[in-house]
Amino acid sequence: MAEVHQTNVRVNQALRSRLPEVDFAKVSFGTVFTDHMFQADFVRGSWTDLQLLPYGPVQFEPALMALHYGQAIFEGMKAFRTVDNEVVLFRPRANFERFNISAERMCMPVTTEEVFMDGLMRLVDMDREWIPSLDNYSLYIRPFMYATDQFLGVRPSDTYRFSIICSPAGAYYSKPLRVKIESHFTRSARGGIGYAKAAANYGLSLLPTKLAQKEGFDQIIWTDAANHEFVEEAGTANFMFVINDALVTPPVKDTILKGITRDSVVTLARSWGMDVQEREVSVSELVEAMHSGRLQEAFAVGTAATVTHISEIGHEGKVYTLPAVEKREVAPKLLKTLNNIRCGKAEDEFGWLVRV
Ligand SMILES: *Cc1c(COP(=O)(O)O)cnc(C)c1O
Repeated sequence: MAEVHQTNVRVNQALRSRLPEVDFAKVSFGTVFTDHMFQADFVRGSWTDLQLLPYGPVQFEPALMALHYGQAIFEGMKAFRTVDNEVVLFRPRANFERFNISAERMCMPVTTEEVFMDGLMRLVDMDREWIPSLDNYSLYIRPFMYATDQFLGVRPSDTYRFSIICSPAGAYYSKPLRVKIESHFTRSARGGIGYAKAAANYGLSLLPTKLAQKEGFDQIIWTDAANHEFVEEAGTANFMFVINDALVTPPVKDTILKGITRDSVVTLARSWGMDVQEREVSVSELVEAMHSGRLQEAFAVGTAATVTHISEIGHEGKVYTLPAVEKREVAPKLLKTLNNIRCGKAEDEFGWLVRV
């Protein structure tokens, strides 16, 4: 277990803020970064050199192990400005815990509370002016860690860099997705790294997604690696649907990323008295439900877009059109409730917000 020996954080403030040059209404996702970043280095078994510094390039030798053998993990979370002009984070401890689960799977050191949580709070506080007080805007936060030994032998790196960067995110109007049930490629196998937020899980998804896009789809519904018989996730988000007024989603296991939005949605729906079923969903069940017109809604849930409707699902050359988005009830209510909680318009009855 890593210990923090030096808990004080070195602060090197940017000479001037780039904020006056930014037009939030024109910023597209992930392109503009705030004035500062946080970083810490794992050296000789402990986290050292904690610092807040101006956002900017980092320098490494080409033999950087992260680039060769893929020890690289990340998190994605958001900070919001509430109607009372407070800055809040949504369930940040869940990201902290998941980050360390990813770290263990990738043979990387776990972060400490001081490194992840305090670094996060200090950085968001320092760059809080970057969160616009406009409806549906937020600050997207990206904590990540990568192997920093300069070495070409295959073994776990001895040193690592942990960083947090932030990017203002505009109002996210996600258009309904056309998705394809994948019956050739695999995202994640039993015993693999599907439950870890590892860079590698994204790398392997790019080609199958690009091929699906060539066929006119936006995203993939991943199925189990063994037989492509059960549905697992929707692109890089969790998959849910409504049938017989029940909310159904596959159970989390080692092939599925344990989404925090997924957990929040399941918790909310249960609190409304909805029938929520976390269970295996076969491709044939889904196809049959679409075929008979019993599938009421389908959607993807994750931090970036929160809740995204699925309008069409393709399977083995056939495309099924789902009920019109305007007729749906569950997903819009979930999206609205989550947005209201995050901006302080609805009561935070589950204690999900952490004030910065
Ligand atoms: C990040 C991620 C999700 C969504 O998780 P949230 O915590 O809700 O953002 C779902 N699936 C995959 C593969 C992911 O990487």
